[in-house]
Amino acid sequence: MTNTSKYDVVIVGSGISGAIVAYQLGLAGKKVLILESGPTVPADRSGYMETFYKANAKTPESPYPPATQGAVPSSANNPLGLPNPAGENIPRYTVLQVGAWQKKDQCYFDYPSQVEGIDGTSLNANFAFASSYERLGGGTTWHWLGTCLRLFPEDFKMKTLYGQGEDWPGGDAFYQSLVPFYETAAKEIGVSGDKAAMEKLYRQFYVNPEGIYGSDYNFPMPGIDQTLQDELYAGITDMTYEGNPVYVTPTPQGRNSRPDERRQCAGNTNCIPICPIQAKYDATVTLARAEQTDNVEIRYQHVACNIRLDDKQQVCGIDYLTYDQPNGIATGSGTAVAERYVLAAHAIETPKLLLMSNKNPGFENGVANSSDQVGRNLMDHVMYLGWGLAKDPIFPYRGPLSTSGIESLRDGAFRKDRSAYRIEIGNEGWQWAADDPGTTLADFVFGQNNSQLNGNSKNQQGEELRFNPQLPAFSKLFGKQLVNTLNGVYTRQLRLGYLIEQLPDPENRVQLSTTLKDNLGLPRPHVTYRLASDYERKAFVSAKELTTELFAKVGATEYTKDPGAPVFSGKPEELTATNFQYKDDKGVTHNFRFYGAGHIVGTYRMGDNKATSVLNSRQQSWDHDNLYMVGSGVFPTIATGNPTLTIAALAFQAAGHILEDLNS
Ligand SMILES: Cc1cc2nc3c(=O)[nH]c(=O)nc-3n(C[C@H](O)[C@H](O)[C@H](O)COP(=O)(O)OP(=O)(O)OC[C@H]3O[C@@H](n4cnc5c(N)ncnc54)[C@H](O)[C@@H]3O)c2cc1C
Ligand code: SF4
Repeated sequence: MTNTSKYDVVIVGSGISGAIVAYQLGLAGKKVLILESGPTVPADRSGYMETFYKANAKTPESPYPPATQGAVPSSANNPLGLPNPAGENIPRYTVLQVGAWQKKDQCYFDYPSQVEGIDGTSLNANFAFASSYERLGGGTTWHWLGTCLRLFPEDFKMKTLYGQGEDWPGGDAFYQSLVPFYETAAKEIGVSGDKAAMEKLYRQFYVNPEGIYGSDYNFPMPGIDQTLQDELYAGITDMTYEGNPVYVTPTPQGRNSRPDERRQCAGNTNCIPICPIQAKYDATVTLARAEQTDNVEIRYQHVACNIRLDDKQQVCGIDYLTYDQPNGIATGSGTAVAERYVLAAHAIETPKLLLMSNKNPGFENGVANSSDQVGRNLMDHVMYLGWGLAKDPIFPYRGPLSTSGIESLRDGAFRKDRSAYRIEIGNEGWQWAADDPGTTLADFVFGQNNSQLNGNSKNQQGEELRFNPQLPAFSKLFGKQLVNTLNGVYTRQLRLGYLIEQLPDPENRVQLSTTLKDNLGLPRPHVTYRLASDYERKAFVSAKELTTELFAKVGATEYTKDPGAPVFSGKPEELTATNFQYKDDKGVTHNFRFYGAGHIVGTYRMGDNKATSVLNSRQQSWDHDNLYMVGSGVFPTIATGNPTLTIAALAFQAAGHILEDLNS
């Protein structure tokens, strides 16, 4: 069936970026159709909560359809019971698939085989991509953490200032043009923040703290209380690292510090994967506002699969397939037609859609791809985790997952030589770092030592790590002794996460798999992902060193585990996914494992030059001027701030450009 309805704008994707554009255009009286591949936004979140309660692994994706685990019985080859993406209509990449990255019947992405004959330090090694996303009404903010930081002016001039990465188009002027939209974005999300603390940071990084609203401007809500762990680090007042100050800043965050239309945060540390009471903002809030304009229609379970061009190289329609059941057959098809088109399907699915649209004469490399840049420069914040036990209880597992960070190392002359990073202070104990509270419990019940608390482990400083030296190694405890031991451990757990900026690398890219398809017959993403320079690896060494210094300053014992050398050859289940090594100037070889931050960036970048970018600074395709793209795929570099406040600001800005075009 072909749909001939006329809209002003068709948007692909109902995450925060698509929802903001739809809302702004709907407010201005424009007729908007959103094609959303996933299921509808549920009337309440109890169904997702139910799925989450039953999930064995509480991963970011665990509450949401399609099921991430248990869909098939576990087996030796598939211990997690991961469903086969070939049988799903809207497969997406999940963190459980990272360990199954070389298993084509369990992992949505298709990866190149590992390069032969390399060692752990090789810059040619292929890795698994470590970050995931959602495909459902409201998109990935269902399971985001809510950290709402701005990027800084220096982030937009990496090439000019440090000879690394790329400059954003327009340099200083572009950053200044974004400032009002940062403020609008913070208002839309309802960010809770501490103005005085942010102003200190802004002054360090050349941001005029007054913005467009002047000195009267403040965050929409007062800041969320800091935790005892935050206060522990905040007590360090005299520390510098490589000449830069080290201080703690309360994190501006998209969660209610007081009630309004939504409830106040209750501090139960469940923000990833789901906030049970929607104290945390997610894009369903903006989506509902968009629908309330009466100008925005959302069609769920509509999978965009092809972009049509007319003979003037303008987009003239987006083809879609529909389905009733997540694993059923396609039940319909059609073409959505409008004046303008916006792709907001995030940084893996957007380039996939552009590359799949390869039947238009003269655009056999895909739509908007005359520069051959679509899908390239895939980036993430590669994360280093450090963990330890505080001297005294600081009571983690309470409050939002993170309430403060160390932001003061996000820029400096060192950026010529190695990546900058921000440090997130995690309130979830060793949940992420060591799968706690389960690991420690199992160790003391069954006499194991996976947590390094109950054996003969030593840390990087050579210190004995047995939690209670009075007890023999591999103790099996019960009763009061077990309870006291667990209480002693859980109440002291510290975790630091370093969000290390990754340089754009054209070979890190999303392509179409030539062999693997999903249930609708659409090609699956083929992902090449490397850490192909020492720039990021040196930042891992720095993060390791700084963790040790910070823990020493607060009198904590470090438990960060050596992940071992990578395994690059063998059976698929033996290959490590994100382990690498780095040999420093002193000849010391360090073992690292990187984690994903969930920040999927690049793949359809903006630029000043049509030959090296996909979009101009208006987020408009160089090749087809009625086509726009929004989301973190437009970022030329990843910088060190979490991306979504910038995604939102850019989406507001793009909506203004689209309106200008529609009205001209
Ligand atoms: C665990 C985790 C924690 C995070 N925490 C933070 C944080 O604290 N701060 C921060 O700034 N960022 C955070 N992020 C990142 C943040 O979630 C994303 O940057 C943001 O949600 C992306 O929004 P988007 O609108 O671009 O894409 P999405 O929200 O992913 O929306 C894309 C939409 O497109 C739809 N779609 C896909 N393919 C098609 C198709 N073919 N046809 C039709 N529709 C399609 C999808 O179903 C989806 O609804 C986190 C991410 C993760 C994974
Ligand atoms: S701490 Fe709890 S209530 Fe607060 S945002 Fe996170 S999940 Fe929601």
